[in-house]
Amino acid sequence: MNRIYVDNAATTKMSKAAIEAMLPYLEECYGNSSSLHTVGQLAAEALFKARQSIAESIGADIKEIYFTSGGSEADNQALISAAEMGARKGKKHIISQKTEHHAILHTLKKLEKQGFKVDLLNVDGEGNVTPEQIAEAIGPDTALVTIMTANNEIGTIMPIKEIAAVCKEKGVLFHTDAVQAVGHIPLDVHDIGCDMLSLSAHKFHGPKGAGALYVRKGLMPSCLIEGGAQERGRRAGTENIAGIVSMAAALKEAIGNISENTPRLIAMRDRLIKGLSEIPHSILNGSIINRLPGSVNMCFEGIEGESLLLLLDAKGICASSGSACTSGALDPSHVLLAIGRPHEVAHGSLRLTLSEENTPEEIEFIIKSTKDVVEYLRNMSPIWQDLQEGKRKYVIQ
Ligand SMILES: *Cc1c(COP(=O)(O)O)cnc(C)c1O
Repeated sequence: MNRIYVDNAATTKMSKAAIEAMLPYLEECYGNSSSLHTVGQLAAEALFKARQSIAESIGADIKEIYFTSGGSEADNQALISAAEMGARKGKKHIISQKTEHHAILHTLKKLEKQGFKVDLLNVDGEGNVTPEQIAEAIGPDTALVTIMTANNEIGTIMPIKEIAAVCKEKGVLFHTDAVQAVGHIPLDVHDIGCDMLSLSAHKFHGPKGAGALYVRKGLMPSCLIEGGAQERGRRAGTENIAGIVSMAAALKEAIGNISENTPRLIAMRDRLIKGLSEIPHSILNGSIINRLPGSVNMCFEGIEGESLLLLLDAKGICASSGSACTSGALDPSHVLLAIGRPHEVAHGSLRLTLSEENTPEEIEFIIKSTKDVVEYLRNMSPIWQDLQEGKRKYVIQ
């Protein structure tokens, strides 16, 4: 069967360029960059070039890039670094918001257990947090503000530049989880004004297991993995050279394609939103304006997201109900709850995240299939029966 892949927020297919860039470092140049012989030094050179390329791609200096195993590790390292830097000055307060990725939320939970005070700010109905909320929450003991650049479930793009400015003015460190944004929208660390930024290769057509943390010059990240002196002593372990080289190639390619891909993605995204909104008692999640180009998330009343996914999969459509971490669990998405969807509505969610490989024909097939499947599921649902007979009130009008 010809599969239609619309789960690019979970992970992306590797690009040809990313695969080709990787192969020499699996075959001939398999050295350890710490070795003094030629094979090792070829690896060291490749590592240097990849670091330079990734730094350039986000407007950073080569000394400001620390390679990690992905977005989760970069987030952990950022938060723990800021917490330790803060604690040394007696600052033990951290500000974030409710729709962050679990790599942030669970690390904050751990820090809370270690005596840090964590404030998770509420978001508005579109999943946004304002610079004013941040300014109000910052106190004399605030060590860090961490706000994601764009949400992985509902695609909302946060006003991080304005938030970074507030943090700078108040002398508080600012980190952003930009995993969904890097390679998808134009970004520059100096333009944002952040102190730290996380990125992950497999979200922009690179390999899984490679990521990076940008740390502004003058700040010293904490070391989570002890051992050798790799990453300037801040992250031990023989480097994933093939993955890192491939990540650099994928990022360069993705950034080069942004201007060409964006209008196409927005056209397909908006057609999907329009088509799916024709389904009665449906609602778009997230902002219609400040939204990632390829991201769609809708709720349909009276259905279970899991059943919808399985029936769409049977038609060859690979979609999601939210983040890969929450699907499979029975809890509704913390993001949909945070934007005010009641439990029963949050359960009926569908996330479709596009890439440049999708076509307008696929979009039409997805709209038609989703309409059919939602109708089929509703016809079998006793809850839907009650809603139709007026025994229950619709939550989504
Ligand atoms: C995918 C994702 C992560 C985790 O990245 P991994 O490389 O899978 O560890 C963190 N934050 C956001 C917003 C993500 O979408």
